[in-house]
Amino acid sequence: MTRFSWGVATDVGRVRQANEDAVLADDGVFAVADGMGGHRGGEIASQLAVDTLRDAFTVASTDALVESVQDANDALFDRAGEDPDLQGMGTTLCAMALVDGDGRDLIGVVNVGDSRLYLLKDGELRQITEDHSLVATLERQGRLTRAEAAVHPQRNILTRALGIDSTVMVDSWEVLPFAGDRYLICSDGLFNELDDARIAATLRKLADPGEAARELVRIAVETGGRDNVTCVVVDVVDDDRDPAAAAAAADAADADDDDAADRLSDPADRTDPPPVPPAPVPIGGPVRHQRSFTWRVALFALIVLVIAGAAVGAIYFAGTNTFYVGFSGEQVAIYRGRPGGVLWIQPTIAEVTTITRADVPSARVSELEKGKDEASIDDAHNYVNRLQDQIEQLRPSTTTTTAPPTTSTTATAATQAAPDESTP
Ligand code: MG
Repeated sequence: MTRFSWGVATDVGRVRQANEDAVLADDGVFAVADGMGGHRGGEIASQLAVDTLRDAFTVASTDALVESVQDANDALFDRAGEDPDLQGMGTTLCAMALVDGDGRDLIGVVNVGDSRLYLLKDGELRQITEDHSLVATLERQGRLTRAEAAVHPQRNILTRALGIDSTVMVDSWEVLPFAGDRYLICSDGLFNELDDARIAATLRKLADPGEAARELVRIAVETGGRDNVTCVVVDVVDDDRDPAAAAAAADAADADDDDAADRLSDPADRTDPPPVPPAPVPIGGPVRHQRSFTWRVALFALIVLVIAGAAVGAIYFAGTNTFYVGFSGEQVAIYRGRPGGVLWIQPTIAEVTTITRADVPSARVSELEKGKDEASIDDAHNYVNRLQDQIEQLRPSTTTTTAPPTTSTTATAATQAAPDESTP
């Protein structure tokens, strides 16, 4: 079973008025947050982040740890939205926790911002997390060396932080725990004062994690103390590997391992940590998580759906429950829909009248060619009736017309049945 021993230290430094770093060190979950923002915003942001992480992390998985960081982001973003004094507050958050990886103990690591997790393994210090800062980006692009980045005037510009936006991208890693490994979580107040060699030397020198944390903070403050400094030192004092396999690895390693005395672990203080075989640490590179579905996203999606639904409904209504009168070939017809259609809904013929294009008074032709909108089928009928009346009124009413009498008679009779026959 994996067990930890740990120690914590923090200091306001020699320049700042307040300590805006916050720390979490419960058994199995450890975090450092470095807040920013005026009017106590930084202090509130970092404390809210670690408190939310502690409360939200209830399932021992890396996914749950990532989710807890996203919950912390939600909490900060909401709080900043409620209080104008806290607008723009944000924080870094770097955490490690014991998680279950398919029945095997793992250390889940999450990071947003430029607080760091280091691993001291076999006396070698390596940074597990990647900083989300301008200088780190330039360093990764090969435009700055690590030494240049360490003293760059814009090294405090972050490219990611909690509380700034409604969503946040969280990096995560999984690391195999080995007895004898020592982890350090720290705020930038440490590594902006001390280089990696100094940090590593201090971690190697002091076996007690509490002493190591206090000494790191003390030296950083002594060196400059230009920022708040916070350190959590976590030792893996036991791991969950098979003792027989560990013993075999120990025997093999003992044969040529003369450096055992230089290792971090002090045999007197520990449960006989065996030398460890090389392990993939961390397992894979950073995994970047961006929560795609929060309650805000859900609410937004719902609103969009309602608006889209209303729009589709309106279009469908307009496309199927309105009418117009127009020509269908040479006949006047009543259509269901709108002239030319509405998006994908094409008009359909509801009724064809006996009136032909030739019957229609010339003043009305263009109106019918465009399509005369009517709100209902009854209104369309009324329009057709008025059109019919107009046609009747304009039609020669007696045989004194200039047209031949036979044609006129035919026309009058034909109006009832087949009016197009009346037109020469
Ligand atoms: Mg700081």
